[in-house]
Amino acid sequence: MFHDDAEQKYKIIIENVKEVCYNVSEAIEKYRKSYENVRIMAVTKTVAPELVNIAVDEGITLLGENRVQEFLEKKDMYRKQAEVHFIGHLQTNKVKYIVNDVTMIQSVDSLKLANEINRLSAKNNKVMDVLVEINIGDELTKSGVDKHNVFSLVEQMSQLENIKVKGLMTIPPPMCDESVYDEMHKIFLELKEKELYNVDMDILSMGMSGDYVTAIKHGSNLVRIGTKLFGARNIRR
Ligand SMILES: *Cc1c(COP(=O)(O)O)cnc(C)c1O
Repeated sequence: MFHDDAEQKYKIIIENVKEVCYNVSEAIEKYRKSYENVRIMAVTKTVAPELVNIAVDEGITLLGENRVQEFLEKKDMYRKQAEVHFIGHLQTNKVKYIVNDVTMIQSVDSLKLANEINRLSAKNNKVMDVLVEINIGDELTKSGVDKHNVFSLVEQMSQLENIKVKGLMTIPPPMCDESVYDEMHKIFLELKEKELYNVDMDILSMGMSGDYVTAIKHGSNLVRIGTKLFGARNIRR
């Protein structure tokens, strides 16, 4: 009976991966140029590693981690071909635990955090790819830099030799107007046009289970999907 339960869960995840991939291709066809690529990330918070691995086996090899402790408990159980980005709020004193195990930190929203990532990356002989997180809806409860401070933050970060700014990340407010997505896209394009030294404005990480089609419509090229792949999370977490 337990065996059947697991089998059922696996089947659902495989179906979910197919559906999300289909919807993403459809959104690209409808709203974007056919050669544009949109990466799909599987957001793993609260999900058991053996279930995460089903998505990896089905081709979603990019994983998104929110919590340092949970990631450390799970990382050795993930498939070797999985690539991990950190996407959650990151305290400066926790950078040291993840700096060698993730290929990107998407949630950089202060110079203080950028400086610490730069320091530890230098110490470990690497250059860390980062995204700057913007609080596009000006929500008090959300992390992310204020949109008016993005330009100066990116400029200051471009001076740090052991981090490389690769783009922007955001979580738009729930049920917000599409103009918010458009505003985010404009900030991304404006920064790209500046062609700052040591900055590659290539990635716009925007869109989750409820809004990824809208986000793709407005220029996103990395969508972060949890619920639509693995089902609803426990409210407790
Ligand atoms: C949880 C989370 C997601 C995924 O959310 P879903 O609505 O479950 O798809 C994406 N990005 C971040 C930063 C998250 O914390």
